[in-house]
Amino acid sequence: MDCLFCKIIRGEIPSRKVYEDKDSVAFLDINPANPGHTLVMPKKHAENIFDADDEMLGRVIVAAKAISKKIKDSLNADGINVIQNNGRHAGQIVNHIHFHIIPRFANDTVIISYPKIKMEDKDFEEIQKKLTESERKVQKNWEMDLM
Ligand code: AMP
Ligand code: ZN
Repeated sequence: MDCLFCKIIRGEIPSRKVYEDKDSVAFLDINPANPGHTLVMPKKHAENIFDADDEMLGRVIVAAKAISKKIKDSLNADGINVIQNNGRHAGQIVNHIHFHIIPRFANDTVIISYPKIKMEDKDFEEIQKKLTESERKVQKNWEMDLM
């Protein structure tokens, strides 16, 4: 498969591996935001959060937790950002699901930025309605599957 991270996982492209178990692997990001910036991912290809298998995703996030702790302790990080991008417009460049584990240090130069937009009460209500409506639809479909 023509996926950069699958090629790394198969060993066809070199990487600096820092963690591996049966389902997950982690290696250093080639263009780190800070020293220790690590990418954690499932070995089995999935493009993004929408097509990733639930159980596999569960195991990857548990691995991400262990790696975060290791990075925090061994590099004396003051904090950790866990970031996961889905889709080109959300900043995903490599289409193999992965979590960025970014160690943060007091006075580092990393900027993780998003605006704080103003929304009226009615706009919040509308969004909340849309989100809970789709949840009800999912629930309904799920119930129908059981019948
Ligand atoms: P994203 O924008 O979430 O898809 O992140 C992709 C990340 O992969 C970027 O931070 C890149 O620096 C990183 N990256 C790209 N190629 C490699 C590589 N060969 N080895 C390690 N990290 C890579
Ligand atoms: Zn892949």
